[in-house]
Amino acid sequence: MDLEKQLKEIEAMGIDHIAGATETPLRPDAFELSDIEKIASIKKDVQSIMQTLGLDLTDDSLKGTPTRVAKMFVQEIFGGLHPDRKPKASTFENKYKYQEMLVEKNITLYSTCEHHLLPIVGKAHIAYISNGTVVGLSKMNRIVDYYAKRPQVQERLTMQIVKELQQVLNTEDVACVIDAKHLCVNSRGIRDIDSSTVTSEFGGAFKSAETRREFLDYIKLDTEF
Ligand SMILES: [Zn+2]
Repeated sequence: MDLEKQLKEIEAMGIDHIAGATETPLRPDAFELSDIEKIASIKKDVQSIMQTLGLDLTDDSLKGTPTRVAKMFVQEIFGGLHPDRKPKASTFENKYKYQEMLVEKNITLYSTCEHHLLPIVGKAHIAYISNGTVVGLSKMNRIVDYYAKRPQVQERLTMQIVKELQQVLNTEDVACVIDAKHLCVNSRGIRDIDSSTVTSEFGGAFKSAETRREFLDYIKLDTEF
């Protein structure tokens, strides 16, 4: 397909983000290169983009950018692609016999939109009802951070967080709501600075209206950032 036709198709898609399956679409050979090899390769790619844009890469302010961006992609903002970085599963027995809902709210979330490679900034709210296993509270933040550090669509991110916690906690009774701003919407394209996107995934007991209501009452959605 020629480039002009592709550009027209992308334009026709507009800002409507298409959500795919729960899994991040990775190729089977995704981890054949080491992190260092990836950094070296991406450095050249970024150099090429800047070169094409007509930037002077010998300028003091620009010369470190390709290396900096390559490192940031591989080790930071897309670091969650690598399964080695997945937080270790450390669970505990629910000794207090706490049978109620546990809610961890306002977890700060930084991710990257996979359609524009621009930031997604927001808050995640998670709830679960223990069936005998509990996790440390910071574990939930780490799981959010791990899946956020990938090229993402918000719908998939929400589902990945719930699926992971369902496995770790050995229960279906997990829910997640994400309220986030997409800079591809806020800063370019339609430039709607005030809009934010809310996605939710309700597993097990959270499919019942009453349980879901209790969770939503706890988090009282309120976007202030
Ligand atoms: Zn986008």
